[in-house]
Amino acid sequence: MELELNNVVKSYGKKFAVNGLNIVFKPGVYGILGPNGAGKSTTMRMVCTIEKPGKGIITYNGSDIYTMGGEYRSKIGYVPQKAGYYPDYTAGMFLKYIAGLKGIKNEEKVIKECLGIVNLWDVRDKKLREFSGGMKQRISIAQSLLNNPEILILDEPTAGLDPDERMNLKNLISSFSDEKIIIFATHIVSDVEDIAGRVVILDKGIIKINEETGTLINNTKIKVWQCNLKDAKEVNSIKNNYKTSKVQYHNGTADVRVISSVKPYENAVLVQAGLEEVYKEFIN
Ligand code: ADP
Repeated sequence: MELELNNVVKSYGKKFAVNGLNIVFKPGVYGILGPNGAGKSTTMRMVCTIEKPGKGIITYNGSDIYTMGGEYRSKIGYVPQKAGYYPDYTAGMFLKYIAGLKGIKNEEKVIKECLGIVNLWDVRDKKLREFSGGMKQRISIAQSLLNNPEILILDEPTAGLDPDERMNLKNLISSFSDEKIIIFATHIVSDVEDIAGRVVILDKGIIKINEETGTLINNTKIKVWQCNLKDAKEVNSIKNNYKTSKVQYHNGTADVRVISSVKPYENAVLVQAGLEEVYKEFIN
């Protein structure tokens, strides 16, 4: 299973949304990270054949995905950033409707399996209007799984979820990782750090990094220091003079992580850089 983007360019008017993407996706979880406007959604939409590149080619196992057409689409599952719902449909009715559109055989069995995977079987008769944000994301994932896709594409899947829902969703995505190509776009660095074997950093339509997450973190040259600061005044002073990442307040003091080649504060200790800091270094 290989999905390959070869020199893919897409522009809207004179503006490039992506400009010369080269990447090969194989089974595993790929986290596409980038700030708003980086080109993540455009990339996701092209890989789903919703939009066509202006230049370049996208192939799956060597064949052009647009030439493959329906054959390719039968192998993908897509969870869009903003999925539409029919609020008066129950979860079961909604999946039955999508299964019909996708031409799924054995639909009763498949729907039961997919609702089970996302842990919504017990609420299959509940209307979607009563679903929480996390439940809606899970039903959106369930519809994407109906055709047992080889490629699963998720656009900002954790947006708007509470911490528990985010954790559950991340565990769910990780559980598919061996057998599918999973591509998920996000601007939340911790989502990628938690579940993506590979991180792709997109910025202004260009791939800045395409690397195993662990290797990227372990090989970084940046120095990260943890400083324990007395008060908010000291925090502001450090923030004004250095690039900082996490700030954690406790018992009236603050632990601040600082990216700096020199020791930024008297009690600063060197710590292992995290993806958040590596990402900041590439983007800012
Ligand atoms: P991201 O998903 O990383 O936020 P997008 O792929 O949505 O980025 O957008 C990349 C760039 O392309 C942005 O500058 C955006 O304004 C532009 N863009 C995306 N879609 C369209 C469109 N349909 N028409 C015009 N410009 C667009």
